[in-house]
Amino acid sequence: MVIVLLGAPGAGKGTQAPILGAHLGVPILASGDLLRAVAADPSSAVGREVDAIMKTGELVPDETIVRIFLDRLTAPDARDGAILDGFPRTAAQAAALDAALAQTGRRVDFAILIEVPEAELIGRMTDRWLCRAAGHIYNIRTHRPLVEGVCDIDGSELYKRADDALDTVRARMAKQLAPLAEVVAHYRAAGVLHAVDGRQGIDIVTGRVIAALGAEGAAAR
Ligand code: AMP
Repeated sequence: MVIVLLGAPGAGKGTQAPILGAHLGVPILASGDLLRAVAADPSSAVGREVDAIMKTGELVPDETIVRIFLDRLTAPDARDGAILDGFPRTAAQAAALDAALAQTGRRVDFAILIEVPEAELIGRMTDRWLCRAAGHIYNIRTHRPLVEGVCDIDGSELYKRADDALDTVRARMAKQLAPLAEVVAHYRAAGVLHAVDGRQGIDIVTGRVIAALGAEGAAAR
């Protein structure tokens, strides 16, 4: 089962993906994590380019992310299914994904759009902290860690993403919402789009996503 998680920056894709991955027993392929790993290597020209683009809140060029992402998608652990978090983000990426999956007789089975009003998204990102070890997500207002600055789950240090600063958050919204609308239209036309209300607590949103996945989601371990 190939599931694409769609939503504006801050909608909750990165929070829901690990919960759904554990529920369904499939890996999570997060484009932002893949790109942050590439950007962390200043000795590579691509790493430096990706790092510079991510700091502006722009999207990385399609050919760069398509190459990196499809390479990860063809790894053996993703053969029986995967949750795609953050990819595709443009219509061209969606077409490249369809073509790659078709080569192995697969398709996107579900595109889940997590909907949150724009006004709420900015605060979610500027209040967000992540853990160094595994990217577990906290929010200083709605989901605080038990000990300040420390991950409840693995004890690692919490940090803020460089692109969660207010100016970059605004730029990400300005630059990424229009292409997201094209991707939503792509999956609506394919008949696989399911929209869920992402304004409630984490567990409620998870329940809505599993309900949208229908019998396959409910039957998963
Ligand atoms: P995320 O962690 O998903 O919020 O992504 C962080 C940043 O990585 C985005 O603001 C973009 O600069 C870049 N990025 C992530 N996914 C993509 C994608 N599919 N296409 C282009 N750029 C991306």
